[in-house]
Amino acid sequence: MSVPCRSCGSEALQPILSLGPTPLANALLGADRLHAPEPRYPLDLVFCPACSLVQITETVPPEVLFAEYPYFSSFSDTMVRSARELAERLARERGLGPRSLVLEIASNDGYLLQHYRPLGVPVLGIEPAANLARAAEGRGVPTRCAFFGRALAEGLAAEGLRADVLHANNVLAHVADLNGVVEGIAVALKDDGLAAIEVPYVRDLIERCEFDTIYHEHLCYFSLTALAALFARHALAVADVERIPLHGGSLRLFVARAGAEPSVRVKEMLVAEAAAGMLALSYYRDFAGRVEALRRQLVGLLRRLKAEGNRLAAYGASAKGSTLLNVFGIGADVLDFVVDRSTVKQGRYTPGTHLPILPPEALLERRPEYVLLLTWNFAEEILAQQAAYRAQGGRFIIPVPEPRLV
Ligand code: ZN
Repeated sequence: MSVPCRSCGSEALQPILSLGPTPLANALLGADRLHAPEPRYPLDLVFCPACSLVQITETVPPEVLFAEYPYFSSFSDTMVRSARELAERLARERGLGPRSLVLEIASNDGYLLQHYRPLGVPVLGIEPAANLARAAEGRGVPTRCAFFGRALAEGLAAEGLRADVLHANNVLAHVADLNGVVEGIAVALKDDGLAAIEVPYVRDLIERCEFDTIYHEHLCYFSLTALAALFARHALAVADVERIPLHGGSLRLFVARAGAEPSVRVKEMLVAEAAAGMLALSYYRDFAGRVEALRRQLVGLLRRLKAEGNRLAAYGASAKGSTLLNVFGIGADVLDFVVDRSTVKQGRYTPGTHLPILPPEALLERRPEYVLLLTWNFAEEILAQQAAYRAQGGRFIIPVPEPRLV
């Protein structure tokens, strides 16, 4: 059975990597569920030769995917700072004021839009999760509890609500109806409006062996080439692009109505992607072999440290951590526990591997000799927070792109 490409509809998708059936990466377990069977779903990465989009084949229905979704408002310090800088910059560059409107799709708890309010710029969030929409309202960010798509955008436009600036951070990778959301963006933008869109960059995924960013919530892994084709289908165009370090390497796109001249950076990145071979399957062909080499290295290192009598734990009960542990088969035989700053995760257990999740203070109390850093995308921030543990001789293992002791 072949599934069509989520962007162009081609059915000639080519396999890149199979991570096998894995449990849902955010489905943390309560103690009462440890002995119940856990559903597993295939995790197969494929390439579309027609439009260059990389994607997984399985679409887990949202009601299954989000049934146990842990409340996610505890953004890292890095993300909060990045959101404020972006809001201040766009308000300045676009000359936003009291008659402007900034929309955000999947606005979460208002972590980004809140930064426009001190600047006197009206905002509106669109957030499907009721608890997050309430949290946003609580901090003064007007929020509609709804799924974003063409119909919602047309409703807003009928109310006279179209955006000078529209934010969509980590939205496109998550939606099954990719074209429906992009069409909605086209409808929701004023004629001279600008959409600021952030997506993980497939080039960083492949070249830095970040295979653990693959999980069922991430349906698509974008190149600029694939995005340009997607937007062109909806009379939009990438006006400018930046590479940003967030989430292991992302693209920040500035998208406007088709017709504007793309920036030099856009032209150069499209040329660079073609030159790197990213428009053909061959670019992706050795990825599976490199992931397997990483598995041998990392598991070998952990087993050796364990055999030498060390105690090992992990940091970050994150979705990417779940992929890494389940795909590499690293479990309770090697790791004693996982720590996480989120109080909602503490007291629960990791999917598939069933490691107990404890508060970060457990590192100082139990003093494992080594900690596997599963949230390596926030390495700098976490290493700084864990100065006391490190001062006592504790060491971190950063798993990708290759295992490294710090
Ligand atoms: Zn395609």
